[in-house]
Amino acid sequence: MRFSGWRVLREGLTGNKGWAPHWRDAEPKAEYDAIIIGGGGHGLSTAYYLAKEHGLTNVAVLEKGYLGGGNVGRNTTIVRANYFLQGNSEFYSHSLKLWEGLEEDLNYNVMHSQRGLINLFHSDGQRDAFVRRGNSMINQGDDAVLLDRIGVRKHLPYLDFDNVRFPIYGGLLHPRGGTARHDAVAWGYARGASDRGVDLIQQCEVTGIDVENGQVRGVQTTRGAIRAKKVGIVVAGRSGQVAAMAGMRLPIESHVLQAFVTEGLKPCIDHVVSFGMGHFYISQSDKGGLVFGGDLDFYASYASRGNLPMAEHVMEAGMTLMPMIGKAKVLRSWGGIMDMTPDGSPIIDKTDTKGLFIDCGWCYGGFKAVPGSGFSFAHLMATGNHHAPAAKFRLDRFRTAVGLMDEEGTGSQHNLH
Ligand SMILES: Cc1cc2nc3c(=O)[nH]c(=O)nc-3n(C[C@H](O)[C@H](O)[C@H](O)COP(=O)(O)OP(=O)(O)OC[C@H]3O[C@@H](n4cnc5c(N)ncnc54)[C@H](O)[C@@H]3O)c2cc1C
Repeated sequence: MRFSGWRVLREGLTGNKGWAPHWRDAEPKAEYDAIIIGGGGHGLSTAYYLAKEHGLTNVAVLEKGYLGGGNVGRNTTIVRANYFLQGNSEFYSHSLKLWEGLEEDLNYNVMHSQRGLINLFHSDGQRDAFVRRGNSMINQGDDAVLLDRIGVRKHLPYLDFDNVRFPIYGGLLHPRGGTARHDAVAWGYARGASDRGVDLIQQCEVTGIDVENGQVRGVQTTRGAIRAKKVGIVVAGRSGQVAAMAGMRLPIESHVLQAFVTEGLKPCIDHVVSFGMGHFYISQSDKGGLVFGGDLDFYASYASRGNLPMAEHVMEAGMTLMPMIGKAKVLRSWGGIMDMTPDGSPIIDKTDTKGLFIDCGWCYGGFKAVPGSGFSFAHLMATGNHHAPAAKFRLDRFRTAVGLMDEEGTGSQHNLH
């Protein structure tokens, strides 16, 4: 089934009876060439690129709940390539290029909107840091524009520029940054993978990983044992628990991150905006809701709802930056489980078990990485070689302390990244 303007028109005129399900709901087979554990954004994109780029179609994605029910459907949908450090910078740059061709590639409207992202700064020191970041982005081939106060005011006239504690000095504009529709990204990849022969198996929790003589043999699931020559673990906040099934202890802590959405409003916030002095960032969804969030709750947890002090902190920061937001009513809030690494950067690597691969540690920034991560992880699983843009995401950097990528400069405390 292909989507087109003509098809939408025809279905609209004939009662919408011709739409087929977007993907096959497959039954598990006894054996696959490769199994992906986790039907989130990264798992589905990995399966898609395994099939599309490497011709590997005897593949299953095993999801314990429903496709897209994890963080891929819970995030605040920001897509950007504004990283500073080598290693991260080239990876996110590659991922953004994939985003830019994604709708055509998947023949699916993921509502990718490059509306521009502005990071505000509130001191001379912060300006210096953003100038360095902007230069690094430009050197990488991405776009960055330094705005002074007047420049920011032209884009965001509604901010409190003369706030006594946190006056706005300027901002770094990333014009190609923006948002995308999170569910549609999961559904588009699911559809693309299923069309190419990948089995997407929902309500199938992996409960064990079978390893014999240092080689992975398959997995145990709530729907029986399934054999496989290769297994990829892509389970975000559950990475530590699933890796433990193969005897691994990961340098990951799981933490909750909350998000909030208001009632639908007329268009008022055109960009993605982030406050430089408190934990608050915001955009407006196509339905009109203001979607915003802040920092992690500061303790490790597997709960997918957050604490009230962090909700209060986020609301206060929002009111400080843009007092007009106080008139909007918050409709919903929720939390997702973040797989935090000690340096805040991800892991895409082989493990000591032959045939067992891992893709995790995306912290609170893994939505924008969905295309890039799937592409690079599929490359690694199919060829055994690291894909160049993701080549620095090695697991052993936490043992050797060589090649750490600490974007925030906050050291090795998981919840500070
Ligand atoms: C509130 C919030 C805001 C965020 N905002 C942004 C943002 O603006 N921009 C950005 O880039 N990133 C953002 N993120 C981060 C981003 O959502 C995550 O990094 C990313 O979605 C994680 O990868 P995933 O999509 O594969 O995870 P998930 O969708 O969580 O996929 C993992 C899947 O594995 C499944 N699973 C777990 N255990 C098992 C098992 N034993 N067997 C089978 N399946 C299993 C889970 O059910 C889940 O579906 C945000 C996250 C949250 C929670």
